[in-house]
Formats: sequence, C-alpha cells, structure tokens
Amino acid sequence: MRNQIVAGNWKMNNNTAETELLLTNLTQHSIREDVSVYVAPAFTQLSQAVSMLNGQPIKVAAQNMNAAASGAHTGEVSSSMLKGIGVQTVILGHSERRSLYGETNESLKAKVATAIEDGMEIIFCFGEELSERKENTHFDLVKEQLFTALFELPSEAWNQIILAYEPVWAIGTGETASPEQAQEMHAFIRKEIEANYDAALAENVVILYGGSVKPNNAKEIFSMVDVDGGLIGGASLNADDFMVIVNAF
Ligand code: PEP
Repeated sequence: MRNQIVAGNWKMNNNTAETELLLTNLTQHSIREDVSVYVAPAFTQLSQAVSMLNGQPIKVAAQNMNAAASGAHTGEVSSSMLKGIGVQTVILGHSERRSLYGETNESLKAKVATAIEDGMEIIFCFGEELSERKENTHFDLVKEQLFTALFELPSEAWNQIILAYEPVWAIGTGETASPEQAQEMHAFIRKEIEANYDAALAENVVILYGGSVKPNNAKEIFSMVDVDGGLIGGASLNADDFMVIVNAF
C-alpha cells in the first residue's frame, strides 16, 4: 500500500501573523495516521512553521531551492540552508516556477540532482498546458518532463521522490481534471516508470494530483487507484477546507 499524502502549497501567501493563525487552526484537527500531511510556506515563514509544528504530524516543505550549494545567487536558497532550519522536503518544478521564473526541464534536472544528493525529499511537479491537452500531446509532454528531470536517476533515488501531476489548466482556475483524466495520466506515468525502471518502483512511487482540488471533489479524485493524494493550492489556505481534503481518503 502506497503512502497517502496531502500537501498544501501556500505560494506567496501568509505572513507571520497569518501563518500563526493557520497553523494553530490546522493543529486543532486530528489527522489519520495513514495520511502524511505537508505544508509549504514561503521561505520567510519556514522556521516559524518548523517550530510551531514540532511534535505535530504535519511536515514542512519549501517551495523551491537552488541547484548550487552556495555562492553568487542573489535571492536564492540552498538545500543546506533548508536542512539547517529543519526542512527536509522541497517542491520542485511547480508550473508557476516554470512559467514565471523560467525553470526548464534541464534546470530542474540540476535542482533534482542536488536535492537527491543532499538527502532532501522532493515533491516534483509537472503537467501540460491546455493547448497541449487540446492538441493531444499531453502524454508526450509529461513523458518529456519526467524523462529529462528524473529518468536518469538511479532507482534508489526514487525513495526521495513524490510526483505531483498538475495539469496547468487546472491550477487556480477552478477547473479540475476529471477523476478519469487524472487516473488516465497517473496510470500512464506508472507505465513509463515501469518501462524505464521496473514494475516494483512504478507501483511504489506516490503520485499526487494537483489542480483545483477542493473539499467537494477531493474524495472522488482520491478514490482513483493510481491517485495517492493531492497537492493543494488555494484550498490549503483555509484550515477547515484543507482538513476536509486531508480526510477525503
Ligand atoms: C498548486 O498551486 O499546486 C495548485 C494545485 O493550486 P490550486 O489547488 O489552487 O489549483
């Protein structure tokens, strides 16, 4: 049985007071033992979140990191800086990082390599634009994203990888992939992993769905056999909504 995971990507939301309030509200809810929960605050709130969630069943993830260990990278943060404040997980490849900040499959390959080498856990995001789905090139596109950034990794590295399929047309739009569309892509991803590695690895890798998951649709999406949970944007900013999603398995 694969891990079930729900991760909240807070994006550039929640200052100190708002983080305190949201985390206080989140920790008042009980969380099933068979579900792993993450929150990903902005860099400035990571230490606060680590400290507030000490001893709680909620892990803290960063939303990005640099591929370099240190040096002339103004505005950037390294994996050792994250680990130094107790953050062991990083989201890489979010569609907003790709579209707004020029991240490519190649640059993500470098970030992934560093994160793996430094012992970080990665939530790796990928997914097609609406135009690619309309042109029916979405499977090729997803294959390319995975191939370039991940498929040269040794099998052991996959213990540190959680995948998050996020069709760009469903992120923050209120438009969700249907459960069947999510299942179809997740099954395709497992097939590609099996072809590149082996059946056991393909069966064990956790694949989250992301894109307008809300309290009213999470159960249906999470019921799909190859969907192991969700990466949640907007709905992770409200403790009650997020916890309905966490408990939607
Ligand atoms: C996201 O940003 O990863 C995301 C899935 O956002 P939303 O849930 O708001 O669509």
